[in-house]
Amino acid sequence: MARILITSAIPYINGIKHLGNLIGSQLPADLYARYNRGRGNEVMFLCATDEHGTPAELAAAKAGKPVAEYCAEMHGVQSDIADRFGLSFDHFGRSSSPQNHKLTQHFAGKLAEAGLIREVSEKQVYSNADGRFLPDRYIEGTCPNCGYEKARGDQCENCTKQLDPTDLIDPRSAISGSTDLEVRETKHLYLCQSQLKDQLDAWIDSKADWPVLTTSIAKKWLHDGDGLQDRGITRDLDWGVPVKKGDEDWPGMEGKVFYVWFDAPIEYIACAGEWAEATSRSDADWERWWRTDKGAEDVKYVQFMGKDNVPFHTLSFPATILGSGEPWKMVDHLKSFNYLNYDGGQFSTSQGRGVFMDQALDILPADYWRWWLLSHAPENSDSEFTWENFQTSVNKDLADVLGNFVSRITKFCRSKFSEAVPDGAYGEAEKALIADLTTRVRAYEQHMEAMEVRKSAQELRAIWVAGNEYLQNTAPWTAFKTDPEKAAGQVRMGLNLIRFYAVLSAPFIPTASAKMLSAMNTLDTSWPDDVDAALNALPAGHEFTVPEVLFAKITDEQREDWQERFSGTRD
Ligand SMILES: [Zn+2]
Repeated sequence: MARILITSAIPYINGIKHLGNLIGSQLPADLYARYNRGRGNEVMFLCATDEHGTPAELAAAKAGKPVAEYCAEMHGVQSDIADRFGLSFDHFGRSSSPQNHKLTQHFAGKLAEAGLIREVSEKQVYSNADGRFLPDRYIEGTCPNCGYEKARGDQCENCTKQLDPTDLIDPRSAISGSTDLEVRETKHLYLCQSQLKDQLDAWIDSKADWPVLTTSIAKKWLHDGDGLQDRGITRDLDWGVPVKKGDEDWPGMEGKVFYVWFDAPIEYIACAGEWAEATSRSDADWERWWRTDKGAEDVKYVQFMGKDNVPFHTLSFPATILGSGEPWKMVDHLKSFNYLNYDGGQFSTSQGRGVFMDQALDILPADYWRWWLLSHAPENSDSEFTWENFQTSVNKDLADVLGNFVSRITKFCRSKFSEAVPDGAYGEAEKALIADLTTRVRAYEQHMEAMEVRKSAQELRAIWVAGNEYLQNTAPWTAFKTDPEKAAGQVRMGLNLIRFYAVLSAPFIPTASAKMLSAMNTLDTSWPDDVDAALNALPAGHEFTVPEVLFAKITDEQREDWQERFSGTRD
């Protein structure tokens, strides 16, 4: 039994995510977790909300709530939606947890001991009215280049000129609008990533099996221009992990917090500690996943994320771990995704364009979305959601191919035999089907293990189609008239195929899979290592029930209605 540690990029706390976010990390990670559990491997699947930083503070202010309260509430909302989408995390944690505070401070202390942290004095804009330093993009003013009145401190949106906040004419706080601003000196900690460049380079070179998309992005950041830059890891904010050196205060850093990008990936580890606490386990129970000196040598660690997150996962987070000098488990395989576009444009959170996770579940059950998103995952290039394609895919793959198969064979058995598996032998046609399915299941396993999401979906669909073709060719409804025993064997095969499909399809469509198993009145979810044995699992006389329709077809009227409803401006 293998041990697989899986993390999905952690979603930011300020709002409900859209389907493009979902397919970019959490959903394929769930597919892989469910597949590995199905194979009998030991899996630890972790995700969390990313809660620190200025955007969380501003979203809380907009909602008129203290930031801690806002984050607790939004964590609840995201956690509930994740459940309803069938995302099977072992734990869905929070980067604001006490475990992450402690571990982030611990890493900073170790990095300081190793001489990898330096202090830098910077000049930054302070707003007297807001009582805080302002990040560059929260200062607005008139662009000195084009005269645009709403230019931001980091860039003018109108003429795209890169700016310093001090370049702006009539600068003001974007938070309060106050013009009572001054430039103050402030000290920050920098992580000396440049000193770790060779170590990171060698580590990336050791990953021969990584996709080119991943290594090329990492190498570009390592070598282009002046190479890997040192990085500020603190901010002048209230909301975040207070800057400490392990358990000790950090002189000169009072009132400051770690930068959200420093503490967020550390939450992957801290989340396992939260899991141990939530399930009344010991530290040793989570450390065996994360410490190579405490049992994690044989763990395979896989990360899932969108391509924009690759630099942080191949460089910044590994720099933190390597720099600590401690034996933490590092990522073995990193699966990154391109973007999913929406109906001729992009998903847009600010414009409410596209389908958001809660809205998706309001109109259709999770399996419909899971199947479409996974079978169209943006793996080798960006992909596009269109309502026409969604309708076609759901109606053909789920309703016609899988759903119809289940309905047809169970109803036929009930009408001609009874609601129990009939007694009949397998002949040549069944042997041929078993041989074909054996080849296909082995291919399906290979694609799943390689995290080739689209290819896995294609193979699974081909496995469903093979059962349909078998039923079409053998036609038990015709055979029944002349040779009822032969028809009984064919029906026995058909009913066993339902259980077989339920097991193989569970990573993609877990709810429908559970319904199929329940209709077949079985708890046997064992993986078909031996396809012949798997297709004999339900013996003659085994009782079942005819399930309700598994997948309803999407009508043209529904499609047009939804297309209109999600074209922009979310209420
Ligand atoms: Zn401008």
